[in-house]
Formats: sequence, C-alpha cells, structure tokens
Amino acid sequence: MKNQALALHGGNPVRDTFLPYSRQTLDNADRAAVSRVLDSDFLTTGPEVAAFEQSLTAISGVSHAAAVSSGTAALHCMMDAFGIGPGDEVIVPTITFAATANAVRYVGAQPVFADVDPTNLLIDPECVESLVTDRTKAVVAVDFAGQAADYARLKKAVPANVHILADAAHSIGGSLDGVPVGAIAEASCFSFHPVKPVAAGEGGAVVSDDAAIIESVKSFRNHGIDSDHIARAKVNTWEYQMTRLGYNYRMTDIQCALGTSQLSHMEERRSRREEIAARFDSLIDELPGITYLAARPGVKSAHHLYVIAIELERFSQDRTGFFNALRAENIGVNVHYVPVPNHPYYKKEGAPGGPWPNSDAMYPRILSLPLWSGMSDSDSDDVLEALVRVSTAFRR
Ligand SMILES: *Cc1c(COP(=O)(O)O)cnc(C)c1O
Repeated sequence: MKNQALALHGGNPVRDTFLPYSRQTLDNADRAAVSRVLDSDFLTTGPEVAAFEQSLTAISGVSHAAAVSSGTAALHCMMDAFGIGPGDEVIVPTITFAATANAVRYVGAQPVFADVDPTNLLIDPECVESLVTDRTKAVVAVDFAGQAADYARLKKAVPANVHILADAAHSIGGSLDGVPVGAIAEASCFSFHPVKPVAAGEGGAVVSDDAAIIESVKSFRNHGIDSDHIARAKVNTWEYQMTRLGYNYRMTDIQCALGTSQLSHMEERRSRREEIAARFDSLIDELPGITYLAARPGVKSAHHLYVIAIELERFSQDRTGFFNALRAENIGVNVHYVPVPNHPYYKKEGAPGGPWPNSDAMYPRILSLPLWSGMSDSDSDDVLEALVRVSTAFRR
C-alpha cells in the first residue's frame, strides 16, 4: 500500500469524497430546537437568548454571559467594555485568526504582536513581558487549537493594571487545572461558527465574573441602548435612551436555541475529538519527520484543531507539496494560521512587536488535519493512511 502512486501523480485517492478539516455535528435535538423557535413569537431578542446565556455561565463557571452575533463581535465588545481606545496597546499572538488583532483596531488601539511557543503555538509569556510599555492595556491570549494558554505566567509577565483576556474561540469545553475555560481570564470570548466546537450558524459570546463588563457588552450589542424590548414591556413604556454609540451585534433566538442544544452535547463531542486526536498521536509517534503540538500540563483541550509540524529538512517537498498531495487524496488539510503580521493590511498599517523567530520558523511547517466529532473511525483511518502515503513518498 505504501508504494501506491499518490493521487497527485495519477493514483487512486485514499477516499472518494472530500473530508473537510472541520464541520458542525448536528442531531435531531438540534433540529427540533431550531424548529421550535420558528414556531414561536420571537426570532430574535426573545427568551432563547437569556436561556443560552444561562447555559454558557453554567458550562464556563462564570456568573455572567452576553451572546452576540459572532466571535469577532464578541472581541470588539470586549475591547470596548475594558475601555480600550486610541493610544492604547493590546498584546496579541502572531499565530491566530486575524479577528483577534482586528478587534483591537476597531476601537482605534494598536495591536502589538508577541511570538509564540514553538512547541504548542501559544502566546509566549516571556515575549509578552518584553513588549509591555506604559500604553499596554491588555493581553488577549488565544487558546490555540483548543488548549488554554499559560494565564498564570501571563499574569506575572505584566503589571497589575494590564487586563488578561482570552480569545477562547477554540477552547470552549476545555479547562486548565480543573478551572473551565471562560473562568480563567478576566473575560473570555467564544465563537459559534460551524467549524468551532459549538456551532450556532454564526454567533459569539463574552463571559466574565464582572457584571459591569457584561452589562456594557449588552448595551454595546444593541446600539448603546439602555434597555431591550422585554425590559420595556415589563414596565409598560416605549421610552429608552441611547447613552453611547453601539452596534447591532445581537444573536438571534434561532441561533441561541441551536447553541443551547449544542452545549448540552459539548462534552460528549469533545471527548470524541479527544479519541480521534489520540489515534492520530499514536500513529504520528511512529512517523519520522512529523510531530504534533505538545500538550500543556493541566490542560483539558477542546481539541478544536489537530496541527502537525513537518520537519522540512527530512522531506523532498515543502508544506505546499504536502498540502497539494493530501488535498489530492481528498483529505481537507488546511493551515492555521498565516501569521497576522504577514497580511498586507498589517504590513501597510504596521505590526509592532517583532522579530518573531518562532512563528517565522513554525509557519512554513504547520498543517491542520481534519478533526471533528462527526468523523468516523474510517474517516480518521483515511487521514492517517494519506499522511503515511504522502510522507513516505516525500521522505528523503
Ligand atoms: C473563529 C475565530 C474568531 C472569530 O470568530 P467568528 O465567530 O468567526 O467571528 C476569532 N478568533 C479566533 C482565534 C478564531 O478561531
């Protein structure tokens, strides 16, 4: 089998159908939840929003949550709620989705990019320490691939007035030393995009133990208006006051109902991803020249992404070669992420914080294998078979 021609070279692909790197896993309970809302009085700003927020506080062990229209909106709301604005600096990792840094730009502040730990691609606390200035207002750590960042060391790396915040788009359902993701940082943002562990179509949330922060998010998501229609109906008034400039960042009842239903399956789906990741680990342990991200002690990962690193010196082809060959086998590999400072926008606007030797070295080597809870064992066998075939053919 190992000598079979690669699909790229005219051989039969490992599988007939394309296996995406991620996708939502839905069941009949999820469908029924959405359908129930479609027959109800409220498609948006109704009872499902509060119910979803209630579930979010329960799973993340915090007292307050605000559901918003996307993870990106959640990051924007969080920046605003912490009073971050022009003249301020916010430290973010190089290897993340652009939205982490873009949210800093939305409020007119400056993202400063910190390098990552090459073994797990999480923001490097030592690098963060070296980037602190008297303008630094916050650090937004990203729980890359599903593992909580090193929040304890981040806290020690910055002065007490610098907020430690979490972009937990990858890590909902995980924990650090037994503390659930959501309750680790001062405030945390989730995304409910369909590739993420909890899918709602689109959606996001900010969670925190700080009631004032979440109140502020709730006003910012609704034009800066001090009450919603439910609160007004209770006291029988049409009056409301817009007290500040906000946005329409509301999450619908349709999305929230799906989100609540998805949360009820979250741990079972997380543990399925953990099982698949463990299968990948044990085969890759035997595969020369390929490694995977190191697990941090004390972390229960949400296993959002399965990222391998290719030891380029040992192969005749680069990452693009692996990408094309695996795609030809119908394995939907992807790359997470182009370092944010490499994007033309940030090249033009300026991306302070470099040099970034670790992210520069790791970016050309990383590749994400398909990992999602609805994958069958046979799907995961296909991923491994394709990886063995391609890496064997490319080995020097
Ligand atoms: C997905 C993601 C976001 C943005 O979430 P959306 O819901 O797509 O807006 C932000 N940060 C990270 C790290 C992400 O993976």
